[in-house]
Amino acid sequence: MKFQTIIEPFRIKTVEPIRQTTEAERRAAIEAAHNNVFLLKARDVLIDLLTDSGTGAMSVFQWSGMMKGDESYAGARSFDVFEKSVRDITGFTHVIPTHQGRAAEHILFHTMVRPGDIVPNNTHFDTTRANVEDAGGIALDLPIAEGSQAVSNHPFKGNMDTAALEDTLERYGDRVPLVMITVTNNSEGGQPVSLINVREVSALCRRFGVPLFIDACRFAENAWLIKTREASMCARTPRSIAQEMFSLADGCTMSAKKDGMSNIGGFLAMNNGSLAVKCRTRLVLTEGFPTYGGLAGYDLEAIAVGLNEALDEDYLRYRIRSIEYLGEKLLLAGVPIVTPTGGHALYLDARRMLPHIPQSEYPAWALSLVLYIEGGIRAAEIGSVMFGRRPDGSEHPSELELVRLAFPRRVYTQSHVDYVAEVVQHVNGMASRIRGVRIVEAPPVLRHFTAHLAPAHGRLVT
Ligand SMILES: *Cc1c(COP(=O)(O)O)cnc(C)c1O
Repeated sequence: MKFQTIIEPFRIKTVEPIRQTTEAERRAAIEAAHNNVFLLKARDVLIDLLTDSGTGAMSVFQWSGMMKGDESYAGARSFDVFEKSVRDITGFTHVIPTHQGRAAEHILFHTMVRPGDIVPNNTHFDTTRANVEDAGGIALDLPIAEGSQAVSNHPFKGNMDTAALEDTLERYGDRVPLVMITVTNNSEGGQPVSLINVREVSALCRRFGVPLFIDACRFAENAWLIKTREASMCARTPRSIAQEMFSLADGCTMSAKKDGMSNIGGFLAMNNGSLAVKCRTRLVLTEGFPTYGGLAGYDLEAIAVGLNEALDEDYLRYRIRSIEYLGEKLLLAGVPIVTPTGGHALYLDARRMLPHIPQSEYPAWALSLVLYIEGGIRAAEIGSVMFGRRPDGSEHPSELELVRLAFPRRVYTQSHVDYVAEVVQHVNGMASRIRGVRIVEAPPVLRHFTAHLAPAHGRLVT
């Protein structure tokens, strides 16, 4: 290419103002939110990097598709548009719309998994794990060792450990109703899975006669990372890589709130006709009629367009580059981050940034509070508040203490990213003055959403 600058491949037609607040206002807001960024009002946040789920901006083509939404209860034209779009990309015969990803998981696992069954995955996402367990199954994570190392130069830290999968299938094959592979591997930091790895996993599943399902939430970002990191793939389009990935599997679950570029929605797709009949029976109970499945006709239209826009090369180049660019800036400034940067988010490594805060005082949580107070940035702790409590009530610090800066799709521009880099560098500079936090009250499960916390030593920053 003749010029180096990678531009946002869109111009802005509708704007949503974001509100500047003073540091004093943010201190008051976070105190009123019991020192939990999940309890903040969105209007008090300047740059919202809490999640990339359902937070993206839609294109003119999606909005115009929405105007064409057919809201008929049964047999709506919008379903045909949706089904065609999903089939063109995934190749799967049966397409079942759901209101979001976890609804697809719920239907799939309650149809396929019996008590005591084992469902291997590279790493289960939390809703996937919860739905396997809710169906009485055991959710088994088989990531490669590099997956849990904060610093690495492995290009595909999201891969599944194929030797461990083979071992599991040999020992427990009759108890494994399906294998899943999550692309990108969200729980391991948005890290991609290589096409070679999917091929190997697929071959093992076929050898043992076990169906393979893809947790496809970020299939397009994964395809782009394969294109740019897997030696023989650079000449292929993200679409052809994605198509091959799906062709290696028997079905998929999808959250359209990610690479469906929509604010809500999801689907379940598969080739097995009798399995599809059972899934549709359950769909009618919990979601709706098979041609809308818990969505409005206009949602189906928005997803049909969004899935294709997610595969656009200019978009993917801009998206993945924004994260990489932020990573480069932070590494240059000596900020400890998880490397290499992955698909949808950048992860700050709070254990290395705040080595003086013990894990019992939740360093990553403290960091998330300081990022908000100093710069109005909202980010999620992925550490011991989120994962530190076992079902029996005991506390075990999580392996890593991370703060995730997740980027909504097509929402922020380079100046927003530059601002984030500046704030993070500033906070890194005051790291030695940041103190830990303690939990005041919390529910027994998924406590990070609603917990109340307080500084452990009177002040958060000394
Ligand atoms: C978001 C997500 C899900 C669940 O999708 P929802 O639409 O939030 O229900 C499942 N798996 C992965 C990898 C995800 O990122």
